[in-house]
Amino acid sequence: MAKVLVIEDNPANMKLTSLLVHRAGHVVLPAVDAETGLRLALAEQPALILMDIQLPGMDGLAATAILKEDPATAAIPIIALSALAMKADKERSQTAGCDAYIVKPLRYKELYEVMEHLLEPQSSAHQSTAGGLGER
Ligand code: MN
Repeated sequence: MAKVLVIEDNPANMKLTSLLVHRAGHVVLPAVDAETGLRLALAEQPALILMDIQLPGMDGLAATAILKEDPATAAIPIIALSALAMKADKERSQTAGCDAYIVKPLRYKELYEVMEHLLEPQSSAHQSTAGGLGER
């Protein structure tokens, strides 16, 4: 179980995303704009952030850049969610520091694969430390 921050302004998208994250066994922290999301990321230290790119006011890419520049939140993986299947959006999300990029509408298999991939390194790193295996 992990805490997953979902930053999404569209109520229908928020409902679907929250449902999928919840079904994967995780806890959802919802935020309807970037400013709320930034506050929650700092205060709650989620294991993962799902970031809508198009948000009112500050957009998801600007919010990602702020999170990745702050040592307190830089290590939190961020999945960019874009409604536009545009190559430019993907490149811009990588430049901003996003760890993965998913095009909406969300497909649960893709979301789960990406989430698992980004949540995995932390738990396996923890296990290898706990197991005391010295040789990488
Ligand atoms: Mn949006």
